[in-house]
Amino acid sequence: MTPDAGSRKEFSDLVRETQSLLKSMQAAGTTEVPKGSDPAGSDPNGSSLSLTDKEKILAPTKAKALACTDCRLCKTRKSVVFGDGSLEADLVFVGEGPGRDEDEQGVPFVGAAGKLLTKIIEAMKMKREEVYICNVVKCRPPENRPPEQDEIAACSGYLQAQLLTIRPKVICALGRTAASALLETEAPMGVLRGKTLEWKGIPLIVSYHPAYLLRNPAAKKDVWEDMKRVLALLR
Ligand code: URA
Repeated sequence: MTPDAGSRKEFSDLVRETQSLLKSMQAAGTTEVPKGSDPAGSDPNGSSLSLTDKEKILAPTKAKALACTDCRLCKTRKSVVFGDGSLEADLVFVGEGPGRDEDEQGVPFVGAAGKLLTKIIEAMKMKREEVYICNVVKCRPPENRPPEQDEIAACSGYLQAQLLTIRPKVICALGRTAASALLETEAPMGVLRGKTLEWKGIPLIVSYHPAYLLRNPAAKKDVWEDMKRVLALLR
């Protein structure tokens, strides 16, 4: 390919990516593109949005999510678990999907895995209220099965709107489902962990899901290595 053809292809890929992102955010109820946060990711330094701006931008998205019937999970859910924490967070944790406790309470990561996540956050010398926590899917998959591809796709506009509006300094994907959904990859955890990746210009670290840690406490030291990488990026 000639350099000209190469940059034309790069440009048309960028346009296609942006169009598809805007389309899924619009389908998720977003009516405004977060200013200063180029959805194609060329503005990695974050937006200068005030908290009020962020609340205003996310309000229609949240309202749409709370009434969402775009996939089968709406039939069995008790609550839509949109997200929890500060819209001014420098760090966003993204999990897989609500479990039983989260479905009951409408808040992400409040069950056993959530309590462990809270401990991890505190070990990082942060408060849970300072970070933002959400999931790839906002409704509980029955029997806590992993969400299916079409369910993840139906929910993707909500997650994109959350991340582009908050525009944190770091995203931490908890587990393979979150990592695969954000990075659109089938790569295993062994390949994804231990490096700084990127989602639309925002540094992204992949770590083990706290539910995995409850079953495999020996992996706690690996998670701590991941969190040290997160902390270094936050500095
Ligand atoms: N597991 C998740 O992935 N998310 C939650 O909110 C709770 C458990």
